[in-house]
Amino acid sequence: MSNASRPADPECLFCRIVAGEIPATRVHEDDVVVAIRDIAPRAPTHVLFLPREHVASAADLTEADGPMLGRLFSVAAAFARSEGLAEPGYRMVTNVGEWGGQTVGHLHVHLLGGRSMTWPPG
Ligand code: AMP
Ligand code: ZN
Repeated sequence: MSNASRPADPECLFCRIVAGEIPATRVHEDDVVVAIRDIAPRAPTHVLFLPREHVASAADLTEADGPMLGRLFSVAAAFARSEGLAEPGYRMVTNVGEWGGQTVGHLHVHLLGGRSMTWPPG
């Protein structure tokens, strides 16, 4: 399912984590998605779901990415269930660009759970 038109970026932190060049605590991996514990957790559970392929942000997605996104979100939901987060709930979020709070330019969905979230985010 990987998209050959999006090669790994050797300068990209998350491409390097996907490739195993930089260590991370992996909680899931398959042919499309790698999930890691966030190095600076903002909630009792804070996991990042990354596509293996390099996509800079959600702003670069197209309709052809539907299967990849379906895998990303279903894997995240399954992980949330396995952690006992399905009730009372949790947050999934992806930041885009500087004002969106994005600091790593490789698409990732944050799964935050284990405490009540506020809205809107800061
Ligand atoms: P964002 O700011 O939305 O782009 O999210 C990037 C996230 O990556 C932040 O929550 C960081 O704490 C996290 N992060 C940065 N470096 C690492 C790393 N080496 N391993 C795991 N998470 C990281
Ligand atoms: Zn990347």
